[in-house]
Amino acid sequence: MSRMFVPGPVDVADEVLQAQAAPMLPHRSKEFEAIFRRASEKSQNLFYTKHRVFLSASSGTGLQEAAIRNFVNRRVLSVVNGAFADRWYEVAASNGKDVEKLSFDWDKPASPDLVADSLKRGGFEALTVVHNETSTGLQNPVKEIAEAVRAAAPDTLILVDAVSSLGGAKIEMDAWGLDMVLTSSQKCLALPPGLALGAVSDRAMEKAKSVENRGWYFDLLRMEKHRNKDSSPATPAMSLIYALDFQLDRILAEGLENRFARHSAMAKRVQEWADAHDLSMYAPEGYRSQTVTTIKNERGINVSELNAFLKQREMRIAGGYGPIKESTFRIAHMGEIQMADIEKLLAAMEEYLKKS
Ligand code: PLP
Repeated sequence: MSRMFVPGPVDVADEVLQAQAAPMLPHRSKEFEAIFRRASEKSQNLFYTKHRVFLSASSGTGLQEAAIRNFVNRRVLSVVNGAFADRWYEVAASNGKDVEKLSFDWDKPASPDLVADSLKRGGFEALTVVHNETSTGLQNPVKEIAEAVRAAAPDTLILVDAVSSLGGAKIEMDAWGLDMVLTSSQKCLALPPGLALGAVSDRAMEKAKSVENRGWYFDLLRMEKHRNKDSSPATPAMSLIYALDFQLDRILAEGLENRFARHSAMAKRVQEWADAHDLSMYAPEGYRSQTVTTIKNERGINVSELNAFLKQREMRIAGGYGPIKESTFRIAHMGEIQMADIEKLLAAMEEYLKKS
């Protein structure tokens, strides 16, 4: 069986692919509405939330844009320590918002205290932060950031991108007091790309009522009206919702805690392997991702040659991303990947390193 150790789109189990092949239904039929409701209610488990979960026919970037359009009239703070955080900043700027960038070095976690200090200057309606930076393999301390934000600027909405971690690492939306958490189907949920999930708090929905020019497609108040009738304003990504409904049963059968433990054990194993081969991690200890490991290419490994070698064994890893494209490579351990797959990959990498 081929295995892709890349941070999305990831391998999808055959039975999940099959679930997509169910016949179409009229989307405003009772039959489809039941599936839509089931999938969105089960999704609440992933977010540890009692709040609503929107199923959006878009990739995750669509919901980054939705967050900006619905929850920010004017001013927003973007925490940036990686490529995807920078994208969210750009999304805000290109939607005409007055967005301030709070930058940290990419190999450092965002500091809760510095985030709080920035917010104390006042006037920020929302804060954007990425939980798991897929470029750097760094996990930001979102729980601690949220605590600091709540103390310093209680009215500021906390918007979190968990695109490459939700379903692979524990994010407790309600307990941490987050206002929006968004993710994409093609990462830890191990579904094909094209669906985004966004959980939104009541107070964020309330705020949206005062925001002008929310647009149409991503107007969450419009979506909410339809969601209350187990539907969406525009035609939903029906096949992906069939697959989500099926995959959530598999995920919940594995057990979320077991799933997180599996991801974290694989991350630890990859880190240990890298250490043992004189390769260091890009992210510092204590802030390393459970779902993707970014390794500094200190041995000058030719990653495309390595991948050609791995592909003969039906495996592949990912190169670096953005400004650290050439100096790093990435091993993703998310979704359907098991420890046995990781062992197979590391053995093959070992073989390659010995011969090269
Ligand atoms: N945020 C993060 C952390 C990501 O890793 C990605 C994609 O890799 C995105 C946002 C964009 O998501 P999408 O490609 O689903 O729009």
